[in-house]
Amino acid sequence: MRALRLPGPGLAPTLVELDRPVPRGGEVLVRVTAAGLCHSDLHVIDAGLFRTPFTLGHEVAGRVAAAGPDATGIAPGDPVVVYGPWGCGRCPRCLAGRDNYCDRRAELSWAGLGLGRDGGMADHVLVPSARYLAAIGDLDPAQAAPLTDAGLTPYHAIQQCRAALRDGTTVAVIGIGGLGHLAVQLLRALTPSQVIAVDVRDEALALAARCGAHMSLHAAPDAHRHVRTASGGHGADVVLDFAGTDATLEMAARSLRADGDLVIVGSGGGHLAVRKPSTLPSGARVSLPFWGARDELTEVVALARAGALRVEVERFPLAAAPKAIDRLRAGTLQGRAVLIPDL
Ligand SMILES: [Zn+2]
Ligand SMILES: [Zn+2]
Repeated sequence: MRALRLPGPGLAPTLVELDRPVPRGGEVLVRVTAAGLCHSDLHVIDAGLFRTPFTLGHEVAGRVAAAGPDATGIAPGDPVVVYGPWGCGRCPRCLAGRDNYCDRRAELSWAGLGLGRDGGMADHVLVPSARYLAAIGDLDPAQAAPLTDAGLTPYHAIQQCRAALRDGTTVAVIGIGGLGHLAVQLLRALTPSQVIAVDVRDEALALAARCGAHMSLHAAPDAHRHVRTASGGHGADVVLDFAGTDATLEMAARSLRADGDLVIVGSGGGHLAVRKPSTLPSGARVSLPFWGARDELTEVVALARAGALRVEVERFPLAAAPKAIDRLRAGTLQGRAVLIPDL
């Protein structure tokens, strides 16, 4: 089978031929029908976070191809997506389906599917357990694959501050990329809040408007003033920052209402001073959500099947993965790049 392998830190991923894995025990072999390319893949390629080589791809849809003798609850041909933040599989968090916050995360040399463990930018992927699979029914695989991260991550971030998103509240979404455009749709589907989208790119703001944002703002140095005005003068109740750079964190902190929630989703490596006093308003809560829980993935898939989520995708054959990565790097993709092995 073909697989897009990361040969070493800083080296370009290459498509190589590998033996198809054979599932043992409770493992499941999935034939990949779609694999999303994520901005964090660039970070994985460049930063050498994990031991190499391994196959990239942490947003995966496919069909069950074969299963080990101990795998239960699945049948060959089942259309599925793969829950990616695999943990140790044994700690209380993992057993409760919150593998994203595995208690042994620091001891593991990987962060999950396609993140130090072989991922789905390949013809097949080996999944450690059927509990990491969610049924997708007749959802288009190219739509379904990005739900596992670009959909699940904002869903989890929104669930963390759901109580704060009542009638008459305002939420600012900074960064309308793969995750941000789904965050806007999720906020519109799940909350009555006013949604303000912020980005530096005109086309991203146009996308936010198509996704249902009430207002789109250029990420100019005075953007926080516009957020304050639009929210009745006090600032946003919740700010979701999908970039996490110095500039966006500063904007996020200045846009936030006292007693508001600042949710940092993007791993842009920016600094935010948490001290008293600082640019953060009093009573602010700062959270650093990572990915999402297993039952949340099921909920995201249900929302997509009900028509509440529409992922902007650009399809590429698996063999064109290097081109898709170049386009992602250059910032010229329209929506999520999705690799299709059968294309
Ligand atoms: Zn990702
Ligand atoms: Zn664990």
